[in-house]
Amino acid sequence: MNERDSETIAGICEQLGMVPCERPADADVAILNTCAVREKPQERVLSRLGELNRIRRRSNPDLVIVVAGCVAQIATDELRERGADIVVGPRCYDMLQEALEDLTRGCSLTEGGARPVAEGLPVCRTTNLKAYVNIIYGCDNFCAYCIVPHARGREQSRKPTDILAEVRSVVATGARDITLLGQNVNSYGHDLPGSIDFPGLMRRVDAVEGLDRLRFTTSHPKDMSDELIAAMAELPTACEHLHLPIQAGSDAVLERMGRGYTYEHFRSLVEAARAAIPGLSVTTDVMVGFPGETPTDFDCTMRAFEELRFDQAFMFKYSDRPGTRAERMGPKVPEEEKQRRLVELVELQNEIAREINVALEGEVFEVLVEEPDPKSEGHVRGRTRQNKLMIFPGGEHLIGEIVPIRAVRGYLWGWIGEAEEV
Ligand code: SAH
Ligand code: SF4
Repeated sequence: MNERDSETIAGICEQLGMVPCERPADADVAILNTCAVREKPQERVLSRLGELNRIRRRSNPDLVIVVAGCVAQIATDELRERGADIVVGPRCYDMLQEALEDLTRGCSLTEGGARPVAEGLPVCRTTNLKAYVNIIYGCDNFCAYCIVPHARGREQSRKPTDILAEVRSVVATGARDITLLGQNVNSYGHDLPGSIDFPGLMRRVDAVEGLDRLRFTTSHPKDMSDELIAAMAELPTACEHLHLPIQAGSDAVLERMGRGYTYEHFRSLVEAARAAIPGLSVTTDVMVGFPGETPTDFDCTMRAFEELRFDQAFMFKYSDRPGTRAERMGPKVPEEEKQRRLVELVELQNEIAREINVALEGEVFEVLVEEPDPKSEGHVRGRTRQNKLMIFPGGEHLIGEIVPIRAVRGYLWGWIGEAEEV
């Protein structure tokens, strides 16, 4: 979502006639787009801002510093005090153009909450082949640990006509793989007139001529419907990949997180999806060390990972976020214990991911070739429909093609493959 926002910010800059440059020391404007979801990335923003301030003092006194994104929204005053000239939150990019035209005044553009996100902002995409398309902004779920509803405000579904127009336009300029974005795509449509819902939207996007691959992220387990599984199974463009964040394996922890499902329910969703969609890869998000997570709770997460065998997982240590319910919950798990649990879980998951990929050696996958492999001469790389990486010998003429590739050697990250004789 942040990457997609950065493409909008780049589009606004491009429309103003700005061009990218290599070093902040040479820039008229430096823009940091930021993530507030965990403490670490937020701290990094402050240190980057410090660096930019030093560059301004030393060699570039007219440098204008802009901070955008979720940190801008939740730490506006601190950022202004620490030298940011323009601070712009994720619902306010429509106001950025005017602020950038008038570089003489500092300002905070951080109206949040239910402010409508504007349509029709310019966009400068970083790749032609793959595109992110927002379908719903904000989040109303308020999971106990999460800053997103505070930073990105209330849910706002985009109109299907606007979404379809964007999809058609990116497909016309060469996109073959589209990811529909929302904090919870399953909430799509509840605030729109008529009966459009997420599976219904998928059907309409699938019908766009020229699209090869359709993905989405993220689907919240509490709202995932049989209709969604049916749409994934049925629609030719819908990729065999489901990202379904589990967050924890213990019902007690899930309850305190306010996630609205039990482990058993989560497991039944994964089973139903795997049964309906052959070759499905399932990935997840999880955190360790949520306040009050006991060794027994953590064990439930370990057992869940053993049982469900995810293809990949984004694994995090819980960190307190200002103003969330979990910030006030206790007891906090000590940092060393969080680290120990994370290492244990990562080791288990790495082993599982490697085993899954090794077991698929010999299978043929459709690969959308994206770029030359940066590490091995004469090789290119791309992704399968399951969103796994495949590296294989081939020339740059293959970039943009979808080709059948046999997985030869499986690794944690994907496969080394070879072109299949057609
Ligand atoms: N909307 C998505 C998640 C967006 S945030 C969903 O509901 O699944 C991405 C991931 O960051 C979350 O899935 C969670 O695993 C992690 N995360 C969110 N808040 C966190 C916190 N306070 N500490 C650690 N990880 C967190
Ligand atoms: Fe955060 Fe929960 Fe909303 Fe996801 S669904 S963005 S985890 S509050």
